[in-house]
Amino acid sequence: MSAATGNCTAEGGVSRGNLRYSAERGQREVFCGLTGIIWLHRKIQDAFFLVVGSRTCAHLMQSAAGVMIFAEPRFATAIIDERDLAGLADANVELDRVVTQLLERRPDIKLLFLVGSCPSEVIKLDLSRAALRLSSRFSPQVRVLNYSGSGIETTFTQGEDACLASLVPGLPRLGEEAAPNLLIVGALADVVEDQMRRLFDEMGIADVQFFPPRRSTLLPAVGARTRYLLAQPFLADTARALEELGARRIAATFPLGAEGTASWLKAAAEAWAVDPSLYRRVTQPAYERAQRALSRYRDLLAGKRIFFFPDSQLEVPLARFLSAEMGMELVEVGTPYLHRAHLSADLDLLPPGTRVVEGQHVENQLDRCHAAKPDLVVCGLGLANPLEAQGLTTKWSIELVFTPIQGFNQAADLAELFARPLVRRTRLVA
Ligand code: SF4
Repeated sequence: MSAATGNCTAEGGVSRGNLRYSAERGQREVFCGLTGIIWLHRKIQDAFFLVVGSRTCAHLMQSAAGVMIFAEPRFATAIIDERDLAGLADANVELDRVVTQLLERRPDIKLLFLVGSCPSEVIKLDLSRAALRLSSRFSPQVRVLNYSGSGIETTFTQGEDACLASLVPGLPRLGEEAAPNLLIVGALADVVEDQMRRLFDEMGIADVQFFPPRRSTLLPAVGARTRYLLAQPFLADTARALEELGARRIAATFPLGAEGTASWLKAAAEAWAVDPSLYRRVTQPAYERAQRALSRYRDLLAGKRIFFFPDSQLEVPLARFLSAEMGMELVEVGTPYLHRAHLSADLDLLPPGTRVVEGQHVENQLDRCHAAKPDLVVCGLGLANPLEAQGLTTKWSIELVFTPIQGFNQAADLAELFARPLVRRTRLVA
């Protein structure tokens, strides 16, 4: 279900660092944070996500999951019907009953997330108290945490941020005397994680942990000797929570494309004082393979004009990859939120004059998109069909979160995701 806000607009660009920034507020066309459950439940293999929501939430989960996954799901929706305040005690009793039944039936669950949503009956329920109550009842076998995936508070990828941030206070602490560890933050496909781990190993960076881990029993330790690298650009709250425990971020581009991945790895190598020649020896073969694989798509993508609607928060790093590595022309880069510190390395590499728009006023943005007539539009599912019907070529941004796209070995797959709709359109027209 799409989320919507009020209807005021704060237009007016600011040119800073050679980019043209503006902010918009108005109607949004973005999935809510519940969507993140689809990839998170596959990543943390002993976790279960119980959405406390309405039939609409259940429908969203079923249709998104039905299309996107084939494994046995580890999520469900506890439907809270309309209740007045006097009915809230019953709602808590009902929630406890559902959780008890679930945990009795599924002893494999070690971590249970109660995921809040936006219906008013759910907002009245205090899910953090419910999580504490249920955690004390079921610990140590099961931990119960809560976060919000509500469309009022979160967009599409912020569900992952809220989920990871809820895990941070319970992470083990890294002692002052312990060796420094490197934390890779943001859900990555297992195949990408394995490749990254191999490269770090070969560079001699041994203590590398991924967050979220594949199992809740493998949570990383965090402390003042922890340095972390963001693998995803939508983790502002998680980063803040990690820094409260003393961890420090390593500034880098995001690992998209050959150059993006190389400089992401280089940032870690420099933080660990890896010999530059060792860094080159380890990364060069994979970098060159990625460059060769990308060259197949350059002719097709170079010079094509691309327009990003704000959706996944991946827009800025994707725009950097497509312009700097593939030669595409950026018409507009919309993003729901612009975390300037986390995105600064990618922003610095955008071409001078690029229009970067934070937030959304969908009507105004549609007008600009129609006027610009780009070759390719990256947008959410709700906008894609109408835009296709109007003759524009689109790419669903949700695919960029469901597909492994990070790292050297995935660089060509990432380019292909943008090339495919252009080829399809050419065939349709021919
Ligand atoms: S959380 Fe809100 S926006 Fe998301 S599916 Fe449920 S009702 Fe719709």
